[in-house]
Amino acid sequence: GAAPAIPADATPMMAQYLEIKHAYPDALLFYRMGDFYEMFFDDAVKAAEALDIALTRRGKHLGEDIRMCGVPVHSHESYLERLIRAGFKVAVCEQTEDPAEAKKRGSKSVVRREVVRLVTPGTLTEDTLLDARAHNYLAALARTGADQGFGLAWADVSTGEFEVTNVSEATLGAELARLDPGELLVADSFFRDEMLSGLIAQHVGSVTALPGARFDSGAGERRLKSRLGVGALDGFGSFTRPEIAAMGALLDYVELTQVGRMPALQTPRRVATGSAMAIDAATRANLELMKTLKGETRGSLFSTIDRTVTGAGARELGARLAAPLTDPHAINERLDAVECFGEARDLRGRLRAELRAAPDMARALTRLSLGRGGPRDLAAIRDGLGAAHELARLIDQAPPSLMPLPREITDTADALRSVAAALRDRLAAMLAQDLPLIARDGGFIAAGASAPLDELRMLRDESRRLIAGLQSKYADETGVSVLKVRHNNVLGYYIEVGPKHAERMMAAPLSQNYIHRQTLANAVRFTTGELADLASRIAEAAGRVLEIELGLFDELVAATLEKADVISRAASALGALDATVALAELAVERRYARPRVDDSLAFRIRGGRHPVVEAALERETSAAPFVPNDCDLTGEGEEAHRLWLLTGPNMAGKSTFLRQNALIAILAQMGSFVPAEDAHIGTVDRLFSRVGAADDLARGRSTFMVEMVETAAILNQAGPRALVILDEIGRGTATFDGLSIAWAAVEHLHEVNRSRALFATHYHELTALAEKLPHLANATMKVKEWEGDVVFLHEVGPGAADRSYGIQVAKLAGLPAAVIHRAREVLTALEKDGSSDRAHVLIDDLPLFSAVARSAPPAPQKSAVEEALNGVSPDELTPREALDLLYRLKALM
Ligand code: ADP
Repeated sequence: GAAPAIPADATPMMAQYLEIKHAYPDALLFYRMGDFYEMFFDDAVKAAEALDIALTRRGKHLGEDIRMCGVPVHSHESYLERLIRAGFKVAVCEQTEDPAEAKKRGSKSVVRREVVRLVTPGTLTEDTLLDARAHNYLAALARTGADQGFGLAWADVSTGEFEVTNVSEATLGAELARLDPGELLVADSFFRDEMLSGLIAQHVGSVTALPGARFDSGAGERRLKSRLGVGALDGFGSFTRPEIAAMGALLDYVELTQVGRMPALQTPRRVATGSAMAIDAATRANLELMKTLKGETRGSLFSTIDRTVTGAGARELGARLAAPLTDPHAINERLDAVECFGEARDLRGRLRAELRAAPDMARALTRLSLGRGGPRDLAAIRDGLGAAHELARLIDQAPPSLMPLPREITDTADALRSVAAALRDRLAAMLAQDLPLIARDGGFIAAGASAPLDELRMLRDESRRLIAGLQSKYADETGVSVLKVRHNNVLGYYIEVGPKHAERMMAAPLSQNYIHRQTLANAVRFTTGELADLASRIAEAAGRVLEIELGLFDELVAATLEKADVISRAASALGALDATVALAELAVERRYARPRVDDSLAFRIRGGRHPVVEAALERETSAAPFVPNDCDLTGEGEEAHRLWLLTGPNMAGKSTFLRQNALIAILAQMGSFVPAEDAHIGTVDRLFSRVGAADDLARGRSTFMVEMVETAAILNQAGPRALVILDEIGRGTATFDGLSIAWAAVEHLHEVNRSRALFATHYHELTALAEKLPHLANATMKVKEWEGDVVFLHEVGPGAADRSYGIQVAKLAGLPAAVIHRAREVLTALEKDGSSDRAHVLIDDLPLFSAVARSAPPAPQKSAVEEALNGVSPDELTPREALDLLYRLKALM
């Protein structure tokens, strides 16, 4: 809400508050007052509700009570975190002068205050506000009048990563889903486009609308040039106008939120369109790549394959998984590196041990560059650089059998080796062992690092020693053996005795030396000229010690920032190394195989497994092992069966099979080994899926509607390089409608899209299409029937399922025996009768269910007598028939 107007009779403080609030109408204003950040008016109401804290009142404004609430400065981060998560932005307003200074200007004058930072979801830098193992992107989306497509720029302010790409309207959703930005910047005009704003709202939780002027590409170009310190942008690749507009708006916003300070962002990297496999949001969600459908990390593909040991490594692995590559050359370079580390067991172990101890340099660097860092961030750089150096050394000493090392590894080693050795040595020499969180607490410069500092510390410590010696001297002098020399923050150093010795101290001759300071209930306190003198020497020395330390801190920070480029390069290399080594570890541990990836249209998997289901089955000791399956959708050649129609009962493993093949393609193209005996994949440029029944009721769409929208997207867009998995389409509507839609969709996929595709269906009628469509093959999940029950073999084989075993599955699920029995009767009748008016046949030929149900026994296991009784309704029996029945029953026993 807008800030209230500033009335003439406002107190000076309120006038100041309102003026500042005016500049930040969209943010909650944290207004620093002593040890609290206070919020007023609407801000207070909103924050009190979001934080569940007390709302109080303070004075009046325009005749109304001013509502207020506050959070303590020392614990404000946890409140900040909750507010940001709740979708607020927070402007942090600090006192920027000593209150004593303000008093000098006059009794009415208020302490000067300024907003030092605007905290928004996309611009966080604190470890407490960030997930160490996930990226937090700030993204900006721009469009210019004349150009095609959108510019999409994104940066992780906490690590300095900065990238940009061009996207079309068709791929925008997939790109946003991949980035999953913490905050997206758009021009406010975007909200006039209903389609576009709907699409954005669907993919991004926090959208910030800015005036269109901030997306001006001319201003953006100037900003980029000054930021990069160049006269022309050409040297950095050719950016499109919308890309420049997006990058410019992003930089501008970062500057705005950091109030003029700029984090160490890297030179923007242009990501070529199509360099990553396009995966739309629904497919990402349904395949549970980063999170399960329930929103949990556990059980996702990511958590199943993640063996990284650093935050940077986890972020890199997540980024690779979110954006599998499409260039076989780049993919094979990654695979070479994974293979190399997979063979080198010892080296892998040593690298992982070293990585495990490496701190998060990228985030420490950002905090330092924003003036928000402390001594521990310097130590993180020191230790990170040390680890980088050691990692490069370990790689250099790789066993000869691994030589020559793949390029990916030598490149990484180069980045790790080029670390700022001088800076590392300097930090190592300067920093002490135990470090305070904030520089002002002092004591972080090592002894021996600075001669003047050592001297002052000696002076300070010498005085402290002298004071410690005074206690026994004074005890002797006064004869009060229990006398103590103590220290507190109010009095400084003082002498303390019990009340019964006080009189003696206050009388001559002792009173000449011992000056009374304070009398408490159980203690009386004194000082001496000597003590006061030493105390002031200590205070003076301590003050100068801190001054020198803070000076050195600033120097070290400046020296670190001078090397920001090298450091962030090393930090990225460290993350990349961790991710690669982790993939090697995974491959060995889980027996994954190196896929053959090229630009053919092959898709041939032998012995493929579902990585997540396999791992889950292994955790349950009683469960049967996962059954591997082959899949061949290779699209080239006359005989190629690039479209598989998969039938089989529910629970037979159809969706597991569909998903596992999509996951294998993703894993292969992210540069990972795959859960299969072997795999040959011609790169997939786009992955489409229509799986699961993710209802979108919140948006007012029925399951069927969602299904049709997703199917439409696939049939309209999939090409020969796409991989399509479709599970049970047409299910949400009447049988014939559904069958007809599924039928037409299969034909379209086969004739028009010509994609490699898996199509699971419960419409057995579709299998007849194999006779007509040359590139379609029927496959089925094998099952065994055993004493009327069905046993799932989880094995995929050629052919079509002969029946659906729905009733057996329903029985497994525990449907009441009477219902199962009745269903069998209905089925038999249906199967006997070929006519289309089936329901009519049923009503004519079969007794009504209610009649059966009433007489059906509740017990699931039926004896012969019970079977015979089943279907008998006593009301309809004549006495003679009842007697006959009794005889028959007796005979059955
Ligand atoms: P459908 O899609 O045919 O209804 P699912 O794919 O959901 O069947 O599989 C049902 C269950 O069967 C899964 O939860 C899984 O535990 C098990 N399963 C599926 N495929 C396999 C397999 N290849 N090996 C072992 N168990 C499997």
